[in-house]
Amino acid sequence: MGRRKKIVEECETLMDNPEHIRNIAIAAHVDHGKTTLTDNLLAGAGMISDETAGEQLAMDTEEDEQERGITIDAANVSMTHEYEGDNHLINLIDTPGHVDFGGDVTRAMRAVDGALVVVDAVEGAMPQTETVLRQALREGVKPTLFINKVDRLISELQEGPEEMQRRLLNVIDDVNELIRGMTEEMDDIEDWTVSVEEGTVGFGSALYKWGVSMPSMQRTGMDFAEIMELERADERQKLHEKTPLSDVVLDMVCEHFPNPIDAQPMRIPRIWRGDADSELADTMRLVDEDGEVVLMVTDIGVDPHAGEIAAGRVFSGTLEKGQDLYVSGTVGTNRVQSVGIYMGGEREEVDRVPAGNIAAVTGLKDAIAGSTVSSVEMTPFESIEHISEPVITKS
Ligand code: GDP
Repeated sequence: MGRRKKIVEECETLMDNPEHIRNIAIAAHVDHGKTTLTDNLLAGAGMISDETAGEQLAMDTEEDEQERGITIDAANVSMTHEYEGDNHLINLIDTPGHVDFGGDVTRAMRAVDGALVVVDAVEGAMPQTETVLRQALREGVKPTLFINKVDRLISELQEGPEEMQRRLLNVIDDVNELIRGMTEEMDDIEDWTVSVEEGTVGFGSALYKWGVSMPSMQRTGMDFAEIMELERADERQKLHEKTPLSDVVLDMVCEHFPNPIDAQPMRIPRIWRGDADSELADTMRLVDEDGEVVLMVTDIGVDPHAGEIAAGRVFSGTLEKGQDLYVSGTVGTNRVQSVGIYMGGEREEVDRVPAGNIAAVTGLKDAIAGSTVSSVEMTPFESIEHISEPVITKS
């Protein structure tokens, strides 16, 4: 069987297994390394070649993004990762890294249950770090931390072990102070501060593809002294082979981010303003694949062959071709032409996409980013203004 076919089959099996799904975002201040890290994860999961990771910039799909070297549009990629003997489906939604597109960040956060916050070790927490954290926490999205560009502390700034440790602990303290301040008043959120001991903090270099966490150091026997030695000796390939960044980060994702079944009961009351006692609220909380279909659209992409693709999180029910679905803020229904999931950065058509997954749908001609698409008329997740003919304004 071809490799691609095998991955498709793996994804299709995992789709029906919400315990093994993680819907996540990587969020960061611009230039802290989100794109480089994402490519590492895709390469580590076998979705793009290891050699091109870092150059390929898989998430930067728009031409002008590549020209400007920044990520604008929310895009979706998926990968599989084996953790503790079980395969997992990890759906990654890209969040734009800069201030002007704050609306997009919030929307992407709504579709995920975990946010890996990337912070540059040299710059530390920056204003956009605070913004993305606030957006994540407001949406009930659990954070973990990856401190990137640690290679620079060692090779460029020539820091010694104590100095480096102090700097890294400062970054963690700053991030935790932000998290504490933001969650103080939220009684549905437990302690979501991050900690090295618990394994919710990773360190490393997305550029040189190595990473560590407390659990990974225990597993590989690597310690900071050895890392510093290899990094200084320019033995980065060896460092990558001994402690690959993608394994460390993807293990952290599987271990510390909630699956949809654990996340939705807490998140639905937080992100959906409809009747909490309704059957629909129940099916969404329970990730019921037999319930009414509810899809929250995070992004509209264009496929040269298939036309407009609406991508988003299925909170309830099962999406299938031929369904007639309501689109919030518009009159009438749209018929689903095809449903798919993401594999790497590519869309793969499948027969059905059950609750808990990120789906790619064609045929939803009235949907825009932010639309709620459903098999019954319902309170939408987001009030949005439709700027089309005729102009319909929803409040
Ligand atoms: P984004 O804006 O957060 O997506 O950041 P990018 O992934 O595009 O990275 C911004 C710049 O930092 C690029 O020039 C990367 O090559 C560089 N970079 C990313 N990760 C690292 C790292 O771990 N170490 C070093 N030294 N540079 C890095």
